[in-house]
Amino acid sequence: MSDINETIKPRHFIQQYIDKDIAAGKNEGKVATRFPPEPNGYLHIGHAKSICLNFGIANEFNGTCNLRFDDTNPGKEKEEFVRAIEQDVSWLGFEWNGDVHYASDYFEQLHDFAVELIKNGKAYVCDLNAEEVRSHRGTLQEPGKNSPYRDRSIEENIELFAKMRAGHFADGEKVLRAKIDMSSPNMNMRDPTLYRIRHGVVHHQTGEEWCIYPMYDYTHPISDALEGITHSLCTLEFEDHRPLYDWVLDNITINCHPQQIEFSRLNLQYTIVSKRKLTQLVDEHHVSGWDDPRMPTIAGLRRRGFTPTAIRDFCDRIGVTKSDNSIEMGVLENCIREDLNEIAPRRMAVLNPLKVVIENYPEGKIEELEAPNHPQKEEMGTRRIPFSREVYIDRNDFREEANKQYKRLVLGKEVRLRNAYVIKAEEVIKDNSGEVIEIRCTYDTETLNKNPSDGRKVKGVIHWVSVAHAVEAEVRLYDRLFHHPNPDAAAKEDKEFTAFINENSLETLSQCFLEATLESVIAGERFQFEREGYFCRDTANSEDGKPIFNRTVTLRDTWDKSGKN
Ligand code: ATP
Ligand code: MG
Repeated sequence: MSDINETIKPRHFIQQYIDKDIAAGKNEGKVATRFPPEPNGYLHIGHAKSICLNFGIANEFNGTCNLRFDDTNPGKEKEEFVRAIEQDVSWLGFEWNGDVHYASDYFEQLHDFAVELIKNGKAYVCDLNAEEVRSHRGTLQEPGKNSPYRDRSIEENIELFAKMRAGHFADGEKVLRAKIDMSSPNMNMRDPTLYRIRHGVVHHQTGEEWCIYPMYDYTHPISDALEGITHSLCTLEFEDHRPLYDWVLDNITINCHPQQIEFSRLNLQYTIVSKRKLTQLVDEHHVSGWDDPRMPTIAGLRRRGFTPTAIRDFCDRIGVTKSDNSIEMGVLENCIREDLNEIAPRRMAVLNPLKVVIENYPEGKIEELEAPNHPQKEEMGTRRIPFSREVYIDRNDFREEANKQYKRLVLGKEVRLRNAYVIKAEEVIKDNSGEVIEIRCTYDTETLNKNPSDGRKVKGVIHWVSVAHAVEAEVRLYDRLFHHPNPDAAAKEDKEFTAFINENSLETLSQCFLEATLESVIAGERFQFEREGYFCRDTANSEDGKPIFNRTVTLRDTWDKSGKN
């Protein structure tokens, strides 16, 4: 037991369930799980919870976890999503067992099992249209009514189902239904649809081979069983579907019966975790795409600068339970902050530049100053940064007048330039509108990386970048995508969830100056810009060709200390 946390952390209910199965010798001690996304969008942070759970259980119990695409709904699915999902699962650090599986791999078998159900009088072809099926279904208080087609002969059902497959009927003209119980208190058991007709769509895996498609509730248990899954973990909304999951497997000839276990979905405040709604955000251009750094998708979080470690850590911290809850965004932000605090090299970057001229520093002189890459980690080494007569500091780090709480540069007072000298502001230069455009300073040669010896106290330390050596960049700062903690719940009939979008969730700073060591940074590299937060080089350049850096997360500590809030 190398990890202390692991030994202390109580085992969640699914681990306990499997412990018992193993103790009882069930499944010969084997554990096989699967992650079964529908390729109708990109994965989001909610899926990460499911991925960490399924792959985590497999790893823990020396078992296997399959990746299976639940691709029974061809109209909404795309190969692009298949590829993106594979990439995201791998990026999170998980390896699926063997080849990628598709529910569509089993279309022939699923069809044959349907024929078996028909032959055993357990399924029938129904001619009711969708509206009629609904009106026959009854309500929670009232039982449903049997379909007039329920008692078709087995022969007729076999023939009609064959014709459905062969394309004799139009969409919606007929469906295949399970013959269970129209008065079941569980609505899912009231003769659920097993197959529907779908013409004119090209399936991303099977092309135009099929015009009938199996329903999820029928497909899922059989796919699980065919793959020898032992524990089929899914979210709570499927709890009421479990009797149907079991019914399907109990009524066909198959020698495997996985156990479905439900856990609660992840909900995250100030965002949305539903592929349908995320699709809407993309389609309606509220965001720039699935990988917009504001999106709670894995692709968005990656582009924003999140690490797989932080996301896995987050999933670990939120735990696995059966009760619905909504996690604060701060929990996720803390995970990435903690990880980046450990691994991100420190750099200086000026986001709102204000020029400082150090009058007593010789013109043309350049010093290479040494700066640590991490204040607590000597092993991360040092870098050399050029210092010269002209530097940029941040506009927010200067005031003409201020009280003692303000520990930055004030006219007539001193401040330390980080990793360099103490400077004193002597004079400000303003433009016609009265805006400060330059500060004239002097520096003290005796103060390089040490405090002045004459007893003056210089408390403030600010960051800077040499003008002549600065790398120009565009920096993007992000805020929450919604200004309501639960946009889904807040949405009413007259107001969609999109009404709660935070219009100020993206702030673009188009002229920032980075220290010279940030000259050639590859996409995805992460840094702490001292006093500003953690940043990651974007995959794209700005319109005018500058590198873009995304702020992954703020430095909470700095916010507190700087008095910005
Ligand atoms: P969405 O509503 O976002 O489309 P989904 O459940 O329809 O989600 P699937 O592709 O079917 O999406 O999901 C694959 C797996 O991920 C399922 O087992 C599902 O239960 C799980 N999952 C989806 N969303 C969450 C979530 N928010 N928290 C935990 N698990 C989730
Ligand atoms: Mg789904």
